[in-house]
Amino acid sequence: MLIVQKYGGTSMGDCSRIENVAKRVIQSKEHKNANLVVVVSAMSGVTDKLVEYTHHFSALPNPREVDMALSSGERITSALLAIALESMGYKAISLSGRAAGIITDSIHTKARIQHIDTSLIQDYIKQGYIVVIAGFQGVDKNGAVTTLGRGGSDLSAVAIAGALGADLCEIYTDVDGVYTTDPRIEKSARKIDKISYDEMLELASMGAKVLLNRSVELAKKWQIPLVTRSSFSKDEGTMICNEEDIMEAAVVSGIALDKNQARVSMVDVADRPGIAAEIFGALAESHINIDMIVQTIGRDGKTDLDFTIPQSEVEEAKNALKRFESEVGMIEFDCEIAKVSIVGVGMKSHSGVASRAFKTFAQENINIMMISTSEIKVSVIIELKYAELAVRSLHKAYELEK
Ligand code: ADP
Ligand code: ASP
Ligand code: MG
Repeated sequence: MLIVQKYGGTSMGDCSRIENVAKRVIQSKEHKNANLVVVVSAMSGVTDKLVEYTHHFSALPNPREVDMALSSGERITSALLAIALESMGYKAISLSGRAAGIITDSIHTKARIQHIDTSLIQDYIKQGYIVVIAGFQGVDKNGAVTTLGRGGSDLSAVAIAGALGADLCEIYTDVDGVYTTDPRIEKSARKIDKISYDEMLELASMGAKVLLNRSVELAKKWQIPLVTRSSFSKDEGTMICNEEDIMEAAVVSGIALDKNQARVSMVDVADRPGIAAEIFGALAESHINIDMIVQTIGRDGKTDLDFTIPQSEVEEAKNALKRFESEVGMIEFDCEIAKVSIVGVGMKSHSGVASRAFKTFAQENINIMMISTSEIKVSVIIELKYAELAVRSLHKAYELEK
């Protein structure tokens, strides 16, 4: 049996926590008589600090150098865990992303994994080692270190589990599993025992950072059994599985909050064919992720275009949009917004889900700035100051505590 485990930043937060992780790793190995590959995050707060350092000298630092700096946090914890395991009498070895054979494209700070050459990992497993891999990183074809985007260690773990054909991928974090909403915002949030890949993907994409969306996407594609659980408790956690494996689907499974979005408002844009293609083309060239888009009806040859992007990409977006200044009245960036989303597969067959959300916002006097929907999701953009209130009110309105 082969198990891939991933331990997040809080779980690896200091030396005594790393010791706790080492004990859990050994326990899994002994109890399940399994081979273990362990993927680790940097200590919590370290990646944030490294980001801050890299932006000290420039608002737009060279992304190649940013990656070089950011990848160091995980190298430290992987080595420390290997040392801790050895001190407990187990054979353990740490590997950087490069040594683990994680080959990515060259889009620095949000690289995509192209291929994993598992030969070295497999050699060490055969020799009886617990293999500890630095998460969040890989290497491109030119030998430059890349990182996979914030929260990327989840993706490292799932991709390695897939490449090795592991029997199980366990993501250890600081909460007991996936809850109906962030338990730090709503105390009555309930842990979900089983959730479908699709719902988890929507929740993760909409801001529930307990799992990175791209890791869920990959787990679904490769049908990797995925569990998220706490490194601080014995709780069995949440199983992420196919919709068919869940007896009764809830109409609404959870509420997600994303406070890291920014709204870009382009006012009085020249209303001519091709303008949207040019604007979004320029943003795509700069690898900026667009989420919601709203265009108002044109008047007098002008139109307004609003869309959302990650806050961390505002500077790049400003740069990319400069060339449209002559064709746009005004471009505004607003970071004081939040995106609140309601997710559930039951929405496919139940009506009135969205209207209940709108009614809840009306009762709380919260103004809706933008709306978008998919088959299993309703998202709205509201003012940042109402974010937590909105989550709590919706949690109650859909009776998710029950
Ligand atoms: P790690 O460092 O282990 O990767 P993260 O901080 O990335 O951990 O993710 C865990 C956090 O996700 C929790 O502490 C919790 O505050 C947050 N979270 C947001 N939404 C949810 C949810 N629906 N269920 C559980 N946790 C959630
Ligand atoms: N350390 C990285 C981050 O903070 C990756 C991760 O924790 O998954 O984003
Ligand atoms: Mg995380």
